[in-house]
Amino acid sequence: MNRSDALAEAFLAELSVTDDSHPNTYHAISDVARDVLTVEKNDPAWSAARVLRRLSDPDRILSFRVTWEDDNGDVRVNRGWRVQGSNAIGPYKGGLRFHPSVNEDVLRFLAFEQCFKNALTGLPLGGAKGGANLDPRGLSEREIMRFCQAFMAQLEPFVGPDQDVPAGDINVGAREIGYLFGAWRQRRGLYQGSLTGKGLSYGGSEMRIEATGFGLVYFVQAALAEQGHDIKGKRVAISGKGNVATHAALKATEEGARVISLSDTSGTLVAPDGMSPDLIRWVQERKARGEDLSDPPKSDAAQFREGEVPWDLEPDIALPCATQNELDASMARTLIDGQVEMVAEGANMPLTSDAARVLRHAHVVHLPGKAANAGGVAVSGLEMSQMSQRRFASAEDVDASLRSIMADIHARVSEEGRGTGEIDYVRGANLAGYRRLAKAISAQGIL
Ligand code: GLU
Repeated sequence: MNRSDALAEAFLAELSVTDDSHPNTYHAISDVARDVLTVEKNDPAWSAARVLRRLSDPDRILSFRVTWEDDNGDVRVNRGWRVQGSNAIGPYKGGLRFHPSVNEDVLRFLAFEQCFKNALTGLPLGGAKGGANLDPRGLSEREIMRFCQAFMAQLEPFVGPDQDVPAGDINVGAREIGYLFGAWRQRRGLYQGSLTGKGLSYGGSEMRIEATGFGLVYFVQAALAEQGHDIKGKRVAISGKGNVATHAALKATEEGARVISLSDTSGTLVAPDGMSPDLIRWVQERKARGEDLSDPPKSDAAQFREGEVPWDLEPDIALPCATQNELDASMARTLIDGQVEMVAEGANMPLTSDAARVLRHAHVVHLPGKAANAGGVAVSGLEMSQMSQRRFASAEDVDASLRSIMADIHARVSEEGRGTGEIDYVRGANLAGYRRLAKAISAQGIL
């Protein structure tokens, strides 16, 4: 065992979470611990402050019952949470996810990752995550509204522009943010930027919807430029069909790449010669209607492969944009056999630890989500400043800011990850995020 692994083992043994009790949280913390503990140990102020130990335990975990009425008049009960990770560098900030897989472990890992991601943006944003174990499939518009109102009835006292600013995540988009924001302002009696991802007619920012997917492509372009390469003509396989996946697909296509797949849990839509923007928009429409991707239009020679994932399509670049742990070690080996050059995470922690290890051994460039998908929360940060100033920027200006923020993140992360050989982006992201948090936490006393 090398020194950083030994330090990490001792550190992890002390945590209240274990691999069995909180597998995702444990995975996220151990990955960071391996990279940052030697740096922490070498800085007397940071090690005395026990920075990583504090970040590994969220400031607060709010857990509440959400009681609502469905269209039949039946009472329904779900569980909601908000995990407030750290507000050392800014108000708590991070998305809300409505999905049956949501539990405290998933939200703790996401809140932990969010602290580092938000630190990397260079903006004053703390880290948090929340959501509910709701399966929104098949719910009517009215049911979604009543659920959002019941959810916010519980969370409202903890939310505010300088307190905690939720946004969207899986199954929480513009529609849900509208209902959540309406419920918050009615209860609080204030018109403030308490959520991001709002509609343009009530304080939202241009480009917020596109930001995560576009930012992912900007980050990939920065990493390719570092190697003297270009995205033009590259074969890009994307998993997922949500906001991040489809906007990454649109931007990659616009930049001259060939996007050969999008997918969902039922299978993969494959277009060997690349998807047209029309086909990508068809996917967006299907997703909005809650439908799968079977029977695509005849154009683009696209076919739907039921039950399959996109990793055997021999892409140059893979963009996992669906959800955590979607890409395991055997899928990573399939990508390597197909000569993949780069894997960039649009989702949060989509690779299992084993998959990440397999890629590292094969020297595949791995761009972690906390850096590569930070464009969404970065534009949320811009939305917060626009709302406070009551001055809204044009789509061109926000897009230019997003490009420059992604380039800055790339510069910070590659600087930290530059060893003797190739750039280790995973280590670079962990260290760059950690340093900013460590300076702030150690400066503010024992809290
Ligand atoms: N849910 C997004 C993320 O994973 C965005 C969060 C936000 O805008 O606050 O970063």
